[in-house]
Amino acid sequence: MNTQTPINDMRSREEKRQSALLDTRPRTTLSFYRYVQIENPIEFRDRLLAAWSKLGCMGRIYVAHEGINAQMNVPKENFAAFDAWVQLQPELVDVPYKIAVEENNLSFYKLTIKVRPKIVADGLDDATFDASNTGEYLTAAEMNEYVDNPDALVIDMRNVYESEIGHFKGAVTPNVDTFREELLIVPDLIKEHKDKKIALYCTGGIRCEKASAWLKHKGYTNVKHLKGGVIDYKHQVEEQGLPNMFKGKNFVFDERLGERIGNEVISNCHLCRTTKSDTHHHCKNKICYVLFLGCESCVAKYNGYCSRWCQITDKAPKKAKKVFARYYNRYLKATQFKKTRLRTVA
Ligand SMILES: [Zn+2]
Ligand SMILES: [Zn+2]
Repeated sequence: MNTQTPINDMRSREEKRQSALLDTRPRTTLSFYRYVQIENPIEFRDRLLAAWSKLGCMGRIYVAHEGINAQMNVPKENFAAFDAWVQLQPELVDVPYKIAVEENNLSFYKLTIKVRPKIVADGLDDATFDASNTGEYLTAAEMNEYVDNPDALVIDMRNVYESEIGHFKGAVTPNVDTFREELLIVPDLIKEHKDKKIALYCTGGIRCEKASAWLKHKGYTNVKHLKGGVIDYKHQVEEQGLPNMFKGKNFVFDERLGERIGNEVISNCHLCRTTKSDTHHHCKNKICYVLFLGCESCVAKYNGYCSRWCQITDKAPKKAKKVFARYYNRYLKATQFKKTRLRTVA
């Protein structure tokens, strides 16, 4: 079995998927991040790539001077070896792993480790901002108290396509597509509530490290954030028998696209807009590839496409498709997602 993943993996998405499907070893899906000074991110990347491809790991990992952010899976048979290796790296000793709730062998199809200027793109360019002045952590039990408390404000620091399928009861869910936008609008959005206790949350906690420091910088004094994000919240709720205050699904950035946390479905299909659905699909038209929520009957009716337009243009001859692609990139890409999605009110 070929477990080597070259740096320049030129295989198509489908080829990678097919070869990943052949490797049927049970896998553990996990994520972790750490803000830590990394002197030479390229050397660090090469070190990770060499060790982790040997162990058959797959995933998407970002490395920067400011730290590491990893979403990945590891063959169960190699997990002990993986962990032993991680513990030997000075940058990673005792890094807390967040293990995925649902087991899934196909969370990733390949190993990609990228060196980036930052591990989370925040777009912040304010020299007076001290990102290390983060808010205190909240446990799951403490988070539940915030959800129930009228003097507290719970804010979802994720994008709208994440919060629309799942969020904490009563949370503020800003209508944004990027973390950058989120940081820009949130301080204004909640300015009436400066005296309230504020709780932030995100998928695994990494965005809130920065967001809590940012809100403190913007004059909010009582800002805390959910440690380990929604992923760890679910574990704590189960281990400690706490009531689950998170409704719906937690969007995750791998091939699964979501982990169920609460049993209810809180969003509607983007195509018929009437049937409840929280299953994300990528449009089958490669030019479009938009992420949409689709109910079973719409997905069948449109054959996996997000719209009639995509269904028809995908069958067009190559030459015509090129024209469509140009049109799509220029005019539609920026607006399509906003047009098709619905806001939740739950
Ligand atoms: Zn539908
Ligand atoms: Zn489409």
